[in-house]
Amino acid sequence: MSTAKSERHTAAPESLAAPRGSGPQGEVGKTHGPQIELAGIERIFRLGDSVVRALSGIDLAIDAGEYLSVMGPSGSGKSTLLNVLGLLDSPSAGHYRLEGRDVTTLSANEQARVRSQRIGFVFQSFHLVPRLTAAENIALPMMLAGIAPGERAPRVEKALADFGLTDRARHRPDELSGGQRQRVAIARATVMRPAMLLADEPTGNLDRATGEEVMRLLEDLHDGGVTLIMVTHDQALGDRAHRKIYMEDGAIRRDSGRGAGQGD
Ligand code: ADP
Ligand code: MG
Repeated sequence: MSTAKSERHTAAPESLAAPRGSGPQGEVGKTHGPQIELAGIERIFRLGDSVVRALSGIDLAIDAGEYLSVMGPSGSGKSTLLNVLGLLDSPSAGHYRLEGRDVTTLSANEQARVRSQRIGFVFQSFHLVPRLTAAENIALPMMLAGIAPGERAPRVEKALADFGLTDRARHRPDELSGGQRQRVAIARATVMRPAMLLADEPTGNLDRATGEEVMRLLEDLHDGGVTLIMVTHDQALGDRAHRKIYMEDGAIRRDSGRGAGQGD
């Protein structure tokens, strides 16, 4: 168990996902219809002679601002689905429209740009860069996006403060607790103010109390307007989402429905 004091955090940045006028986010995003639209998505892995259909016949529409959980047994395709949604992996067939734009046909560079501007990713094992401090890890997406150091520094400082990490700024990941590492990872995932946040078992490596804090952080971010899509093994955590999807053998077996539970 972590101590309440060291794991305490403040509310998520209220500026996150706030409506923006022009700027780099203005060009995508202004569309009617769903934010995310998957049609006939297949993902096949070939290993020697064996073929694994990790995703098959996935049709899925998700509106901006939804809070969706993805559940299902190990190997059912949850991570593969999240990776496709996050443009970390490309489907073998089918189409993915993000904010009205077919992103399956974009070049690798264009995909990287969309990922950088629109998508935040949080993983079970944090995926922080071990040699970089907390502050440097959080700054990384801004460096990759070419944001000037003068603009980066105050944004890193604000992110550190928002996530209760100011006194950990110069620590490397191996000097941080699990909860602190995940807070750094969430700060890094949201420092570019993405429209959607994808979390793959974000509490899977955390004790219950720390996991609860991370859940609250993610839900605060959702309350701020970000679309939250979370894979979890934990039924109780999955039930907190407004919409629940259940996967089996690479297919969506159950879907509680688009827009379910919104507006309460
Ligand atoms: P889940 O996250 O639900 O546990 P995954 O999406 O990780 O499931 O995996 C779905 C299926 O695809 C599994 O059978 C898994 O072994 C396979 N798979 C996932 N990634 C790869 C890969 N890179 N190469 C080969 N097979 C993979
Ligand atoms: Mg997985």
